[in-house]
Amino acid sequence: LEGARVLVTDPVDGLLLEALKAAGLEVDYRPGISRGEILVAIPEYDALVVRSRTKVDRVVIERGQRLKVIARAGVGLDNVDVHAAQERGIRVVNAPGAATQSVAELTIALLIAAARRVPESIEFARKGVWKKVMGVELFGKTLAVVGFGRIGRRVAEIAKAIGMDIVAYDVMDITGYAEKLGARVARSLHDALAEADAVTLHVPLTPDTYHLISWDEFRVMKRGVILVNTSRGAVVDAEALLWALDEGIVGAAALDVLEHEPPATEAEKKLAAHPRVILTTHIGASTIEAQRRVAVETARKLLEALAE
Ligand code: NAD
Repeated sequence: LEGARVLVTDPVDGLLLEALKAAGLEVDYRPGISRGEILVAIPEYDALVVRSRTKVDRVVIERGQRLKVIARAGVGLDNVDVHAAQERGIRVVNAPGAATQSVAELTIALLIAAARRVPESIEFARKGVWKKVMGVELFGKTLAVVGFGRIGRRVAEIAKAIGMDIVAYDVMDITGYAEKLGARVARSLHDALAEADAVTLHVPLTPDTYHLISWDEFRVMKRGVILVNTSRGAVVDAEALLWALDEGIVGAAALDVLEHEPPATEAEKKLAAHPRVILTTHIGASTIEAQRRVAVETARKLLEALAE
């Protein structure tokens, strides 16, 4: 391990850098480095650490002639071509559970903010206009949790405490988890969507979940439904969502993620400006606690993989 070189291309917690240095690694911290600069630098490094900004595609991987490990300081591996890495015997590690609680808390925050129209009221208050906005309670309403993994289950647990009825949908057998949490299991995605007052998305981004929520899905939803997405932007078809908002199918959408961040397409820009859309800047895992956990777990796994 002594002297192995690590390139870090996204902002990470200082603990991660310290842990790698303490193990004798030479760490180059270059958050914000451009793709061109990465391609020039990568042949010199034994390990690469990224969050979600850096796209570690086949081109980057094949230029990384010394690469042994790619570490994703976080959960989603959709920005890493895992297949291309495996072909070259490069280990890919991540920190799957580290951000679960933070993302679940943000999801609930967005759900309540949408139900109570909190951002609109904040806008009024800023302008000195003491106008009320009329919201809805979540108590007694049905929440569809699409993707009943770590984050989806934690969201269900908290929503349950608010008094929501949970209907869960997943491609895996989730009957055990659902029973434990007092959630019902939907037979299909459309079944879950059709009975939901609010829908929250917690699937990984894969070819199967790309635009999972599109025209056909909005068509089965109840009028006025709240949509929350803290998973990956591309899970929702932005054009279809814009249509559903304007049709009055979606009453409010609260999104922490977009297919392009910042918004790049016409539809995404319109969503960002839409009065019934709440948009945050991909802050799901951005808490002191999550980033510390991510740092510790990523460092441990990177060092283990390098030592193999
Ligand atoms: P997880 O792997 O624990 O759970 C994902 C679940 O989705 C699994 O149960 C899986 O079976 C299910 N699934 C996969 N394909 C599906 C499909 N087509 N239909 C229904 N279910 C499907 O993952 P997690 O830790 O709960 O993370 C969930 C999502 O949250 C990921 O997309 C991740 O990238 C995202 N995330 C976002 C942030 C953020 O900053 N906003 C932070 C961390 C994670």
